[in-house]
Amino acid sequence: MPHQAAINEIPLVTQICYLIASALFILSLKWLSAPATSRRGVLVGEIGMGVAIIGTLLMPEIKTFQWIIVTLLAGTAVGIPMAMLMPMTAVPQRTALSHSFGGLAVGCVGAAEYYLMIRHGEGITTFKMAVLSLEVLLGFLTFTGSLMAFGKLQEILPSRPLVYKGQNFINLLLLVIAIAVGVWLTVEPTKQILFPVFIVMSLAFGVLLIIPIGGADMPTVISLLNSYAGMSASAMGFVLDNKLLIIAGALDGSSGFILSIIMCKAMNRSFTNVLFGAFGQATQAATGSTEKKSYRSALPEEAAQILSSASSVVIIPGYGMAVAQAQHRVRELFDQLTKRGIDVKFGIHPVAGRMPGHMNVLLAEADIPYDKLAEMEDVNPEMAHTDVALIIGANDVTNPAARHDKSSPIYGMPIIDCDKARTVMVIKRSMSSGFAGIDNELYYMDKTLMLFGDAKGFVGEMVKSLSSGD
Ligand code: NDP
Repeated sequence: MPHQAAINEIPLVTQICYLIASALFILSLKWLSAPATSRRGVLVGEIGMGVAIIGTLLMPEIKTFQWIIVTLLAGTAVGIPMAMLMPMTAVPQRTALSHSFGGLAVGCVGAAEYYLMIRHGEGITTFKMAVLSLEVLLGFLTFTGSLMAFGKLQEILPSRPLVYKGQNFINLLLLVIAIAVGVWLTVEPTKQILFPVFIVMSLAFGVLLIIPIGGADMPTVISLLNSYAGMSASAMGFVLDNKLLIIAGALDGSSGFILSIIMCKAMNRSFTNVLFGAFGQATQAATGSTEKKSYRSALPEEAAQILSSASSVVIIPGYGMAVAQAQHRVRELFDQLTKRGIDVKFGIHPVAGRMPGHMNVLLAEADIPYDKLAEMEDVNPEMAHTDVALIIGANDVTNPAARHDKSSPIYGMPIIDCDKARTVMVIKRSMSSGFAGIDNELYYMDKTLMLFGDAKGFVGEMVKSLSSGD
């Protein structure tokens, strides 16, 4: 790693690269916030990162490239298969894993910089030690916290919350002690024995922070860990006197933080609870009563007939559409219906699927026009005037219990008001529950028809039936 004295002399070409990269990162975030421009956002972000790497490699203190090439090849060898082979439904755990690597890298850079400063006996200022401590704390806690999140989402670890008496107190106490050690190190940097203790405490805090959180709340946590990773990278920027890291870290930190708040609102979670980790217990969910309730079901041809005689249809996609990869069949259904002059919209719940924007990404992949995608707040007032609400692989985000049943684990979560439509049709394979593990009272309403089958197959059958009637 280049040492401090040299870092301060950043060549002009590198500075220009950093400026361009910072502008591209900001544009990327802006474009990523709308489905229509999100692909451009990804591309611009990638170009920005490429420019940033080139700028860094042009710094004169990099004397040899052999280790850089080795690590570049190793990273590429892991990254490309990860991106190509990982199914869309596993993106949340893949993201957790990436954050974990990011946190580890930041923590290790902080540790290396600390020992370099100690060995050279130079560059140790109170400010630098304070930000270095912050970097190490956030970096290592993001590492273990994200690994735990990965384990829970991948179901390597139990996804239910692990809770015990006094948990919040212990977590808080550990954090306070870790901060106290960080402050001590800031005041007395040469007290080297404190540094490994500080690292171990940060690693332990990451684990303890995540274990009480249930799998259902993990995406919010991942987004929060993303924010921590960004803040630690920003702190690393102050340590290394690297303005690009400060900017990119701050962008990452703040966007992750904003996304966590948006997700908390969408899932009706208190943000304070997220910060203190003691939440998610609700997802231990009652699996619903065992009493037999009656429901009605229909075949694809019957469902197609109902759809073709409707004048307005709202399609509500969910996790099952993603699992079945049914988006292209859904596009064909959309074409068949619009061809008949039927007004078709998509009602998008902010936490449908398993990651923010999951449904938008899939529907965009199938070239469904963006203006047909309606946010929950926009589509709900229209539900009472809608002929058919066609639910494709969604469950929790349509469950009316969230509105009125105070004992329900999803009570308070805003839902798509499918029950207000004149007819409700639900494509899923069985009567089993969704992510929250609870029964959905919508399925037992008189106006509801259950359409049993794999989403791709069932929608395909409906399309066939509609096109044979052309
Ligand atoms: P749910 O998980 O509630 O329900 C999905 C339904 O899809 C299941 O009931 C399942 O029923 C059905 N399904 C599964 N595979 C298929 C298939 N091949 N064909 C047809 N149906 C299928 O999904 P929702 O999208 O409604 O809700 C998302 C849930 O996930 C919420 O509880 C949310 O809080 C949570 N969550 C959201 C995240 C996000 O960021 N978006 C992240 C993590 C969790 P069956 O088995 O009978 O087919």
